[in-house]
Amino acid sequence: MTEPTPPGPAPAEPAGSQARRADLAARLAAVRDRIAAAARAAGRPDLPELIVVTKFFPASDVRLLAGLGVRRVGENRDQEASAKAAELADLDLEWHFIGQLQTNKARHVARYAHAVQSVDRPQLVSALSRGVAAENQRRAGEGLPARSPLECLIQVDLRSPAEHARDAGPAHRGGALPADIGALAGLVDAAEGLRLGGLMAVAPLGADPAAAFARLAGLSAALRASYPGADVVSAGMSQDLEQAVAAGATHLRVGSDVLGPRPPLR
Ligand SMILES: *Cc1c(COP(=O)(O)O)cnc(C)c1O
Repeated sequence: MTEPTPPGPAPAEPAGSQARRADLAARLAAVRDRIAAAARAAGRPDLPELIVVTKFFPASDVRLLAGLGVRRVGENRDQEASAKAAELADLDLEWHFIGQLQTNKARHVARYAHAVQSVDRPQLVSALSRGVAAENQRRAGEGLPARSPLECLIQVDLRSPAEHARDAGPAHRGGALPADIGALAGLVDAAEGLRLGGLMAVAPLGADPAAAFARLAGLSAALRASYPGADVVSAGMSQDLEQAVAAGATHLRVGSDVLGPRPPLR
């Protein structure tokens, strides 16, 4: 026996989800205001693109953000990113991979990523190119169209070469030395299935972000002299987005100021 359908509106969504949406909406609006104010202060007529970094936060948050107009999301671990991308396949989202990437994950990342912002060594370039080829073969086998070329940003380590060399181990945050940008750019440009997008950097700990981003802008100008289309400058996080906007960043990667403090590291 079925219960009669109760009259009235459809069941409301859970109160927790409504509260979270309001929280995300308020934080997102505050970040957008900061970006607009920084662009005005810098006399910039354009606004940089916002990539919301959703690492450590659940797919349900990404869905709420998409409902608030977010299209670009950033993730730094393949396992977490691919699970969210699969769960949210019904949404029109661009996934930007921003973390250290092992070559054996390159093929998997090519399944869902629009861009890899952390290209920092030749072996990764060839692994990503092979990954795109394998992904397109898989799609062809299923009668699906080929994916778009994978946008690759070269991640630049703005610390001194001595500091760069000192922690090349597992804790290394990644990035190629500025002197190696030209060679890497040539490899990406020549690689099948990849598109050279530009540069990405994190301001070094303890350094003045304005100076770091000014240096990145100079490196970008030099890159664009050879590759005019490689005009992306991805710089600026929650703490230093104003300095990045002032230095001409085209893309900002903002996590905690949109989503709140990250849950403790798992
Ligand atoms: C986590 C992360 C961000 C976002 O940092 P917030 O301080 O949370 O804004 C940006 N870029 C990279 C490479 C990251 O790993």
